[in-house]
Amino acid sequence: MSRTIFHVDVNSAFLSWSALEQLKEKPGSVDLRTIPSAVGGDVQTRHGVITAKSIPAKAYHIQTGEPVVKALEKCPQLVLVRSNFKAYRGYSSQFISILREYTDQVEQASIDEAYMDVSGLAHNREEALALAVRIKDAVRDRLGFTVNVGISENKFLAKMASDFEKPDRVHTLYPEEIREKMWPLKVRDLFGCGAATAQQLNEMGFHTIGELAACSGQMLKSILGEKRGEYIHKRVHGIDDSFVETVRQEAKSYSNETTTAEDISRENYDRVAIPIIRQLGKKVSERLKKDGVYGSTCFVQVKTGGFQRHSRQTRLKHSTNDAKTICDTAVVLMKELTGRLFDEGEVLRLIGIGVSGLDHGEYRQMGMEDWLQENEQNRQRSEKKKKLDEMVKKIRSQYGESAVFTGNADR
Ligand SMILES: [Mg+2]
Repeated sequence: MSRTIFHVDVNSAFLSWSALEQLKEKPGSVDLRTIPSAVGGDVQTRHGVITAKSIPAKAYHIQTGEPVVKALEKCPQLVLVRSNFKAYRGYSSQFISILREYTDQVEQASIDEAYMDVSGLAHNREEALALAVRIKDAVRDRLGFTVNVGISENKFLAKMASDFEKPDRVHTLYPEEIREKMWPLKVRDLFGCGAATAQQLNEMGFHTIGELAACSGQMLKSILGEKRGEYIHKRVHGIDDSFVETVRQEAKSYSNETTTAEDISRENYDRVAIPIIRQLGKKVSERLKKDGVYGSTCFVQVKTGGFQRHSRQTRLKHSTNDAKTICDTAVVLMKELTGRLFDEGEVLRLIGIGVSGLDHGEYRQMGMEDWLQENEQNRQRSEKKKKLDEMVKKIRSQYGESAVFTGNADR
């Protein structure tokens, strides 16, 4: 049975949200979205990279990830604002809340985008289109920023569709539209094809997605290796079997959970549960990294055969977004939590992993080991400097002031 999937993506999210914040602070000031503007770096020193840009800034070919200095060369009047993650998290959760008013089948993919499975809400394509427009308008009218909605039968195609012309638009990319709407696009526009793979394919003479679609799966596998080759082959033909995974996204935590295909008991725990825990932990880590967020508390939760939720958490030594740390901690917590449940004869139906106590790295507490290490390095450095200073002094006293210059030109 075919499904109806939406991908809802906030247009220039950080920039739009910064614009709203600025309007809130200084009512009547210029709307950053209407002028060439960008979020990123240190506004004063003009260091760092661009993390978001306005649509007028796109006309100057300013790109996300490029150094602020380079962007200013392209567009000297570019207005720069610094990021404000606290505000962004607020807008993000308001955005997701609106989507959840329509269905609980919402998977937040990053701070500014989500997939929705609306199969139960829209019974044909006209209804799907009308619903997408309704959701898009609701976000715009109630929250003051715009989104694109991509509609299709799977997540990948919906994601590709939401990236078509922006802002404030709804696009479809149904399987029979792939040839006309997706194949003319550049290889690097293929979602899931990394920059390195795109470049490799470009160098081999593949420039459009359609050119890849003309290749056999066997050929793509021989070029890109078994796994990537198969992945790209599927995607260029619009195939994606992944489901919309419901994610519990509260403003204060990042977590992923999944219903297990079979009941988990002590007997199949190692075989079934452990890989799921690691996979979920990895996803949480990926989402944290994507949003530049760290968590200081790790938690696990389960739903039992009796539909009871249980959870267990622990505070980490440092806040982290590292997959291994999250996975290893979750494995230990889950063992503690389930040991008791299995003793009571329970089975597990759902597993969830997450972190809370979020920060953006600015409050990352140095652990004792880091502190000791840094202290030791400083000590060695000052020791070395002291010895050097003494040597310089000695030489100067023997041969005069001009005898020794330090390596640093501006000293
Ligand atoms: Mg976006």
